[in-house]
Amino acid sequence: MAEDHHEHHHHDDQSPAAIRVKALESLLIEKGIVSTDAIDAVVETYENDIGPMNGARVVAHAWVDPDYRARLLTDGTGAIAELGFWGSQGAEIVVLENTRTVQNMVVCTLCSCYPWPVLGLPPTWYKSAAYRSRAVLEPRQVLREMGLDLEESVEVRVWDSTAETRYMVLPERPAGTEKMNEDELVALVSRDSMVGVARVREPAAVR
Ligand code: FE
Repeated sequence: MAEDHHEHHHHDDQSPAAIRVKALESLLIEKGIVSTDAIDAVVETYENDIGPMNGARVVAHAWVDPDYRARLLTDGTGAIAELGFWGSQGAEIVVLENTRTVQNMVVCTLCSCYPWPVLGLPPTWYKSAAYRSRAVLEPRQVLREMGLDLEESVEVRVWDSTAETRYMVLPERPAGTEKMNEDELVALVSRDSMVGVARVREPAAVR
């Protein structure tokens, strides 16, 4: 895409997600980049549904399988590929673990680098100049505005993505989910929690 001037295309990574993304890219280019409601709807789907569902699966699997979680935190790209997700815009994915005391938050100050295989296309706010600059300068304030009011004791770590290294956050598993199975957990995990601008809400708050 035009603004991702430093992206690299790899022709050896044709996962289903990569093929879908390629098809979408072609469509956008052919149509002159997002000018109709129909294309907006497609983009929205990639932003909110198809893409983040892959990441949600990764997170839920890590929550129920400690060995997988350990692999995910030491070799994000490899552990994510174990579940069948890889491809364009995801050559090197580093996974950051959020805890009660550490909130990792992801930005691309240069443009809009984002881990497509797990999160799909970046949302509009992620690409905005305001988020890209303010996430670094005043992350707590940005998080507060996005609805996450952190206690002072929580350390905020901001990670700047590049075309080579993209980040995904492993959010903390919320209380009250001890009896939930992996599929039920997948449904809880939001896109924003994997960018590090939200926490996963307790099930009672979701219903
Ligand atoms: Fe970028």
